[in-house]
Amino acid sequence: MSKLVAFAAIQGGYNIVSKAEGKLKEAIDKYGPKQEIGFPNTAYYLPIIYSLMGEKVETLADAERVIKRCRALLPPHVKKDVHVPYLGPLLDAGIAAIFAEEIAEAILYVEQPDFYQPSVEDPDIDNGKLWLGAADDAIMRKRGVEFVDGTAPGFAAIVGAAPSPEIAKAIVEEYQKKNLYIFLAANQSGTTVAQQLLDAGVQIGWNTRIVPFGPEISAAVYALGFANRAGLSFGGIKPGDYTKMLKYQKDRIFAFVNALGDVNAEWAANAAGAVNWGFPTIADTDIPEILPWGVCTYEHVVAQVPHDQIAARSIEVRGLKVNVTEIDIPLTYGPAFEGERVRKGDVFLEMGGSASQATELVRIGDMKAVQDGRIIVKGKDVKDCKKGDSLPLGILVEVAGREMEEDFEPILERQIHHLVNYAQGIMHIGQRDISWIRVGDAAAEKGFTLKDIGTILHAKLHQDFGRIFDKLQVTLMTDKKDVDELTKLAREVYAARDERIEGMTDETTETFYSCTLCQSFAPNHVCTISPERTGLCGAYNWMDCKASFEINPTGPNQPIQKGEIIDDKLGQWKGVNEFVSKTSRGTVDHYNLYSIVHDPHTTCGCCEAIAAVLPTCNGIMTVDRDYIGMTPCGMKFSTLAGTVGGGVSTPGFVGHGKYNITQRKFLRYEGGLLRIVWMPQHLKEEIKERFVKRAEELGVPDLWDKVADETIGTSEEEIMSFLQEKKHPALEMESILEV
Ligand code: SF4
Ligand code: ZN
Repeated sequence: MSKLVAFAAIQGGYNIVSKAEGKLKEAIDKYGPKQEIGFPNTAYYLPIIYSLMGEKVETLADAERVIKRCRALLPPHVKKDVHVPYLGPLLDAGIAAIFAEEIAEAILYVEQPDFYQPSVEDPDIDNGKLWLGAADDAIMRKRGVEFVDGTAPGFAAIVGAAPSPEIAKAIVEEYQKKNLYIFLAANQSGTTVAQQLLDAGVQIGWNTRIVPFGPEISAAVYALGFANRAGLSFGGIKPGDYTKMLKYQKDRIFAFVNALGDVNAEWAANAAGAVNWGFPTIADTDIPEILPWGVCTYEHVVAQVPHDQIAARSIEVRGLKVNVTEIDIPLTYGPAFEGERVRKGDVFLEMGGSASQATELVRIGDMKAVQDGRIIVKGKDVKDCKKGDSLPLGILVEVAGREMEEDFEPILERQIHHLVNYAQGIMHIGQRDISWIRVGDAAAEKGFTLKDIGTILHAKLHQDFGRIFDKLQVTLMTDKKDVDELTKLAREVYAARDERIEGMTDETTETFYSCTLCQSFAPNHVCTISPERTGLCGAYNWMDCKASFEINPTGPNQPIQKGEIIDDKLGQWKGVNEFVSKTSRGTVDHYNLYSIVHDPHTTCGCCEAIAAVLPTCNGIMTVDRDYIGMTPCGMKFSTLAGTVGGGVSTPGFVGHGKYNITQRKFLRYEGGLLRIVWMPQHLKEEIKERFVKRAEELGVPDLWDKVADETIGTSEEEIMSFLQEKKHPALEMESILEV
């Protein structure tokens, strides 16, 4: 090992520990030893210190104890003429530096409480706030699990700055393609990779997996602390068990450091610290290398790697295997882009949403007629549009194969959502006949066309579901006439799918199904889908989930043994609660399937409709996504979705599928259909036939005529006299808030 490296790292360790000692002393003088310190919303204290030493640092006095240990850990300075044969002293200096930095960062939270933005996923760039600091436990649970389940193999911690924004962008995009997280810290003479990425037009934040932790090298502790918390919470490692923790990190978290620009002594100390985790450093400058193997899987420090090779070299040095299948489209493609938004100002072309009709349908086709890989585009394409245009869109996917069954159609169809979202610069929302696609300016500039949607669906559906079909072709249409025709056909197909579930009740099965597809947007949202409660997006019913589980036993639809009944009227079961609690990572520990007032099912942003209690009318209204006007609860659909759609349970409001309105258990606890006092007119018409049938069963055959709509009024006061005149049954029922 180079004596030079050891010299720099050990010197850096001394500098960092001394600085932290100084800061701590100053803070104690100013705030007193009892002053509380820590990172926001976490149960892991200062996580590196807690996980490796078992010490709970809660006050400045606690930190004082730890800093003394740091000082003791520092090895003797390297003498000019003494050979340093082992890594040991270097590792000690590194770990002392990292403990000290964690304390320094915690003090920063006391001194400048607004420096970092706690508990947000994306930085508030518009208000000039760039740095996120420590991730809170909610973010850690949501993201950390991806390191464990393989969605994200690990992270690249990039410190410093690239020679130009373009180079920064190129390096980061390589990592995004490989599904790695990118953690950013430190600066080079004031320039940071985070700022460079913004300058190059890259969206940063947890949602694009690019996390700007902080502008100083000490912010590297947020990356290491994040990794250790993942070890504590998902690896079941006990605080203080440092051997197990560091081994876990080396074996399970594929992380490494990229040092961009000049490496000073403090950076060297951090690099040495990271070696304890098995995380090597790959640098673009000429620094002394530590090539022999020992702690890391391969080399420890590799220098002078050209920028166009640094991503590939880093992945190789860390020993990471990634499979990427290239998809032949002009955009970068991968799960890292799923959560990325295309904001209003950046939209080049919009299809669906409130602008036009967009419909998706997957159907079994004839073995002979379907030609694998054929992609047909009928009508205008992206290149025929100018910024701000909108087009109707029909996506028809025809599949054929001996193993293919009609039951599998909706499962393939529901994939369109995330598969299209994976393309950088394209946003997809919704499903069925309420889908909505935004093509961003950057994507249009890169030459994205509608054919690319076909290419994506062909490649990815083959890759993920190739087992159940042999051939797949896609037709994309943008002529209104074609889209309307497809929509008409699609609605018949959706209705037939919905009907298949008709004969079943929740009592006749012990097994419900979960759906966690929406966790990319609503991280703690879990749908429980029972025969009488279709998924709230309307795309998945119980049958669909069953088929989905058959196709993909480790996928997003898992069987839930409903278990012991806790409350029959509310629709609550022990097995469901346990499942939801686990899958929502502890944020929701129970909900009721049949109630809106008492701990209702959680709602995510893609629900077809949202019901709300109207206290004055003693009833319930529901509004679907297609209705853009005001409603009697005082909010439009968009406001409602924004308020209750984050995956939480909100008493008085619940998202649901349109079909669900006429299922027998729909809000049964409050009286079900008999409580419905208002719906948009077109929704009333759409579900009329089934509504009337259900109303007859309930003994009020003319209920449909008693339900108000926007032509009667859009406030509780306005519809009240109508309800009284029609003698709506809700007015005679027990107070809705006291049931
Ligand atoms: Fe699945 Fe529920 Fe999302 Fe529909 S709303 S995709 S059922 S999680
Ligand atoms: Zn959703």
